[in-house]
Amino acid sequence: MYLFDIDGTLLLTGGSGSIAINQLFEERFGVKGAMDSVAPGGKTDDMILQECARNGMERELTPDEVEELIAAYLPLLRAELQRAPKFRLMPHVRECMAFVAEVANTVGIATGNVEGAAMAKLERAQLRHHFHFGGYGSDSPIRPELVATAMKRGRACAGRELPDRDFVVVGDTLHDIAAAHACGARVIAVATGSTSIDALAQASPDALFETLEELPAWHHQHFNLDGGR
Ligand SMILES: [Mg+2]
Repeated sequence: MYLFDIDGTLLLTGGSGSIAINQLFEERFGVKGAMDSVAPGGKTDDMILQECARNGMERELTPDEVEELIAAYLPLLRAELQRAPKFRLMPHVRECMAFVAEVANTVGIATGNVEGAAMAKLERAQLRHHFHFGGYGSDSPIRPELVATAMKRGRACAGRELPDRDFVVVGDTLHDIAAAHACGARVIAVATGSTSIDALAQASPDALFETLEELPAWHHQHFNLDGGR
């Protein structure tokens, strides 16, 4: 059962998330360019907001502040996504998702985005209909925990106890690989995000692709996820 990351794996928003967070920190705290020194790849939204607070204000956000910021972030993100002139899908994503829809009954998401942000991005990309469940940054600020949540929901969707190795995390960062390893899942690393193919190789993913074009051949070689249709 596949669990796809979103940013850098399926799509890039062209900075919509960063623009929205910068706006948020400027309005709420008078902090300009909060995202300037933050590399968001593979991090949960919670971690990203905390990093902005530490860089800009030298303090941690309280859980109430995080909740309030996320609530204010979502409409700003949706507005940015509507503009987003640099929004784009990663290469071969539509063919890959069409293939996955053929071979798997259920397909999941495993992303550091809070659920509302994940849905806004997938809707903008017209990809939302491909996914049946997920683990999100709103389930846990810690990536292995949200992957574990995705696996639990995947098992509920399948209605049976799938082994950990039946799950395949697909992601573009070292965080995706580490989280999958921690959960006993397989992991395909795809070098379409900000992490180089060499750096991804160092983290020993089960497979390493330049783009998602390589997924169907890998799938046929390895195993019949979900037992097919
Ligand atoms: Mg990513």
